[in-house]
Amino acid sequence: MKNIMLIAPPAAGKGTQAEMIEKKYNIPHISTGDILRDVSKENSELGNYVRETLASGNLVKDEITYELVKERLSKDDCKKGYIIDGFPRNFEQALAYDNILDEIGYNVGIVIVIDIDKETLEKRIIGRRICDNCHSVYNINEENHKPKEESICDKCGGRLYQRSDDNIEAFQNRYNTYLEKTSDIIKHYEEKNVLYHVNGNCSIYEVFDQIDKLIKN
Ligand code: AMP
Repeated sequence: MKNIMLIAPPAAGKGTQAEMIEKKYNIPHISTGDILRDVSKENSELGNYVRETLASGNLVKDEITYELVKERLSKDDCKKGYIIDGFPRNFEQALAYDNILDEIGYNVGIVIVIDIDKETLEKRIIGRRICDNCHSVYNINEENHKPKEESICDKCGGRLYQRSDDNIEAFQNRYNTYLEKTSDIIKHYEEKNVLYHVNGNCSIYEVFDQIDKLIKN
């Protein structure tokens, strides 16, 4: 199985696609955002720092993120492949990721960029809800993607919440950071001949279909 990296702007449906890949191929979905949201619940200096940073939409310090990523990728369940999302977020992190992969003896696999319009993202960001237990993603404004019962996760019964950074102001900040930082990352993986684009302006299933073809090739 290939390792898969997903790159997309906030609210492009990356988490949803990762969940679908996880289910079909039985490989873990590793999201630095999820890992950091878990750390942010801790009542410690680190937890407080991460909580404040997430709410502002800024990036968490590199040394903290690298340690968490390396620790997670070193677990046994990643040996058969994994989906990484939210990392790397800038060129320095891409170089650091190359080093982490060398250290643990993995290769980058395939890198998939989901291309999507900004207007679509703004609409989605307002309706996104996440399960505080299993991290499943819903959208209360999308008929095919809303939970059966408001505020309750269909899969595990967990409580659905709105992320502190899912508001238009934090979105603008995160979107601008994404555009500014990802062009160098994309170039980096283009040069390694591992980069592919999919069109994100279509249904969840159509996006998945494009991704699935890339995984199978
Ligand atoms: P995400 O769920 O990927 O949108 O990430 C949510 C937040 O987690 C970001 O706005 C950052 O504050 C933090 N974060 C996630 N991934 C990284 C990363 N690779 N480096 C630094 N901070 C990150």
